[in-house]
Amino acid sequence: MGLANTPGSTRSASRKSQSHYYDLIVVGGGPGGVPAAIAAARNGARVLLVERYGFLGGMATTGLVNPYMSFRAGEKVIIKGLFEELLNMLAENGALLRDRQHFEAEAMKWLLDEWCLQNGVDLLLHAFATGVRMKDSVIEAVEVHHKGGREAIAADLFIDSTGDGDIAALAGAPFEIGRTEDGACQPMTTCFRMANVDTERVPSRKDVNTLYDKAKEAGEVKNPRENVLFFSSVNPAVIHFNTTRIIGKSALSAQSLTEAELIGRQQIKEMVRFLKSSVPGFENAYLMKIAPQIGIRESRRISGHYALTADDLLSARKFDDAIGCGSYGIDIHNPGGTGTVIKHLQPGEWYQIPYRSLIPQKISNLLIGSRCISSTHEAHSAIRIMPIVAAIGQAAGTAAALSKQKGIFPVELNPGDLRSTLLRQKAFLSNE
Ligand SMILES: Cc1cc2nc3c(=O)[nH]c(=O)nc-3n(C[C@H](O)[C@H](O)[C@H](O)COP(=O)(O)OP(=O)(O)OC[C@H]3O[C@@H](n4cnc5c(N)ncnc54)[C@H](O)[C@@H]3O)c2cc1C
Repeated sequence: MGLANTPGSTRSASRKSQSHYYDLIVVGGGPGGVPAAIAAARNGARVLLVERYGFLGGMATTGLVNPYMSFRAGEKVIIKGLFEELLNMLAENGALLRDRQHFEAEAMKWLLDEWCLQNGVDLLLHAFATGVRMKDSVIEAVEVHHKGGREAIAADLFIDSTGDGDIAALAGAPFEIGRTEDGACQPMTTCFRMANVDTERVPSRKDVNTLYDKAKEAGEVKNPRENVLFFSSVNPAVIHFNTTRIIGKSALSAQSLTEAELIGRQQIKEMVRFLKSSVPGFENAYLMKIAPQIGIRESRRISGHYALTADDLLSARKFDDAIGCGSYGIDIHNPGGTGTVIKHLQPGEWYQIPYRSLIPQKISNLLIGSRCISSTHEAHSAIRIMPIVAAIGQAAGTAAALSKQKGIFPVELNPGDLRSTLLRQKAFLSNE
């Protein structure tokens, strides 16, 4: 069965205040959602991108997550397409370090605005998607809440780029949460930055960690994380910290998120005190920025037509319906407290992500363009990094636009057609 005589099949629920009718609505403007929207628009779809905050970027801006984790296997660049285009734009605007991994999150905000608008993507910011209107297995409209109240916006196709899989869950798609034994998810982290650091005098990571261990032994730091995770930044004299660790909280409960935000800021208070009092180079530093929202590593994983496993990744498995590649290994911050499990691929190797993992079970006109594709808890810990999510987003957007062109549901799309379009549009899909 294809899309019901599109366009127009769900127009009755379309936005009263707006003359446009959308082929596709992408919900969530993060590392997955922006490429999804742009890819779809470039392939001829009329696209609306809905975002709950007043700016785009997802974890890259709201969570202050930095830098981009690996998009290379050895020296070979294995994530190209729209992700590479974004890197080039950041570089041209002085917002990317020479390593092409550390970027400037504030410039990214207006760059993403421009990128979307130049490609004909309509934006709806300050709109939180909280419901869907269904007809059988088809989403007819997404309901958003904003200052004006509640509004239903119709389209033929939808992409869930919310990170948490909100749209898929609201529509009734099956999903899993956390690790198999107890459903616990990876910890949350509130990122922060210190400015006016005398970076020449900051000791090695090893020496910082020795000082950290001492502060923990003395009871000055209660953060359960085993070490201090910090990075240089695009801005001179600014150090980025991804080091708080908040365990046992749910990304799907406002009450739990409230508790998590409060704990995160207490841990930052403690860390700032420790850095300024004990670590050379930080004596005159100040807390420049706390991420606008706590960083969420893991929540729902939407069950699709194929669930990626750790074994697929670590054995560098290739798939006939591959839509993207990755080389980042297993990286599980202990859901219970101290410790991080890291497993690397063999040097120079990469795995692929099958199109089937982006297609949720039970919902006909929805694709996942986000970290919450179908995977195990272990595999999710690898594919969640921003460059891989960008490749997933580009594939989801392209698949939605091709499905629209052909008047079919995404599950009916020939993966060969999707792959040839992605290759024409500079994605990297090679298996050798
Ligand atoms: C602390 C931390 C450190 C990390 N470190 C790194 C790193 O160093 N390098 C790296 O590459 N990756 C890192 N990651 C992983 C990476 O940041 C995320 O996995 C990635 O951002 C996921 O992208 P996404 O688009 O799926 O979701 P998100 O980035 O979460 O974006 C989702 C977007 O959807 C919006 N949204 C959500 N729900 C709704 C709704 N119902 N209605 C409207 N809008 C909605 C959100 O506001 C957001 O803009 C880290 C993650 C965390 C939390």
